Amino acid sequence: MIISVLSGKGGTGKTTIATNLAVMTDNSRYVDCDVEEPNGFIFLRPRIDTQVNVRVMIPKIDTGRCTGCGKCARFCYFNALALVKNTPVVFPELCHGCEGCAILCPEQAIERDNKTIGKVEIGYRGQTECIRGVLDVGEPVGVPILREIKKLTGDDRFTVVDCPPGSSCSVINSIEGSDFALLVTEPTVFGLHDLKIALELVRQLNIPAGIVINRSGERDCLIEEYCRNEEVPLLGKIPFDRRAAEIYSRGGLLAEDKEFRSYLQNILENLKGAAGNEADSRN
Ligand code: SF4
Ligand code: SF4
Repeated sequence: MIISVLSGKGGTGKTTIATNLAVMTDNSRYVDCDVEEPNGFIFLRPRIDTQVNVRVMIPKIDTGRCTGCGKCARFCYFNALALVKNTPVVFPELCHGCEGCAILCPEQAIERDNKTIGKVEIGYRGQTECIRGVLDVGEPVGVPILREIKKLTGDDRFTVVDCPPGSSCSVINSIEGSDFALLVTEPTVFGLHDLKIALELVRQLNIPAGIVINRSGERDCLIEEYCRNEEVPLLGKIPFDRRAAEIYSRGGLLAEDKEFRSYLQNILENLKGAAGNEADSRN
């Protein structure tokens, strides 16, 4: 089973929930797809066994073959090619490695060079397999790293995918193929606003979802009412408590605290129940 954990914005506790649910389950896998800021390993501290560099294609112009027709520059959606005095000039930092220019060049004048944009690390914390993607600083696109991660993750384990914040194409790439989406929010007007965006996204992708309130407190009714109106299950809460912030700032896991573990256990059981029901109804 693959569970994606996401939130409309950063800082809602998405990584806290994802890391803890992974370590509380046997035969699990934690996957950090927040490649620009992967911080799940700070808490899991896995032993890294394997590291794979991720490369993307960048064009290299064979000036002997190029006729200066400009088709490649007109095609490139990302402006990574410009025709200067009838010769294409490549801007590698803008290139998304789609290979389109090389495919369409009528003279086969574009060779496929490559550059490293980041890496995927694989390791273990106890029985939990831990995978994360890391995008090099200054690189614009993490999607090739997410594709590499996808090759390594199946549903052979209880897999928890820690998605990037927001609703960009990186989020879509991260949650594609998931059985269930766990939306983490907080009981504020901003939290509700971002939750609506996240729910809309997973609905468009036809992925069933449930909601968890982090930093739960007096204003939970904001989210509870939304859950009722949208008929989305509320799978549990983590209370607003200074101790949670202290554990987090030490790089600890809430699951190691007896009281927080009970809240997380409740979420985990409800999550497995809701995801299982959805799977049954689709079969
Ligand atoms: S499409 Fe090919 S031939 Fe035309 S300008 Fe680009 S590299 Fe040169
Ligand atoms: S590989 Fe794609 S993004 Fe890169 S220069 Fe060619 S067309 Fe543009």
